[in-house]
Amino acid sequence: MAEYTGGCLCGSVRYRIAGAPTRPHFCSCRMCQRWSGAPIVAWVDVPRPAVRFDGPGGEPSFFRSSAGSQRGFCPRCGGTVCAADDGSDKLCITIATLDDPHAIVPTAQSFPEFAPSWLKVEAVAPSKGG
Ligand SMILES: [Zn+2]
Ligand SMILES: [Zn+2]
Repeated sequence: MAEYTGGCLCGSVRYRIAGAPTRPHFCSCRMCQRWSGAPIVAWVDVPRPAVRFDGPGGEPSFFRSSAGSQRGFCPRCGGTVCAADDGSDKLCITIATLDDPHAIVPTAQSFPEFAPSWLKVEAVAPSKGG
């Protein structure tokens, strides 16, 4: 099984994923924008039990961004690492924090209407048979 590793800017929060990623997508909702400071965030869902936080800082800190969701970040550098919806068995990981951000390709976009007009986004269609 493929394993994915990644972490925050300072390396305090590190994660290791030993499970199949699903639903890789861009999101340009206003919450993602305000949270990340970026016009768009690339996300992928992974099974919660498949994620292990093995950096020196342990688990990320969480900020409750809405009634049903929390966003995980490194309390040392502020790096935005993950999001967790209440009651979900999935953890959403920011693809850009992977050690190899090429490894997972977003194939859809949520809230395209909130993406800045100056940003051109092309979600790449999933490759066939790969
Ligand atoms: Zn950090
Ligand atoms: Zn969003």
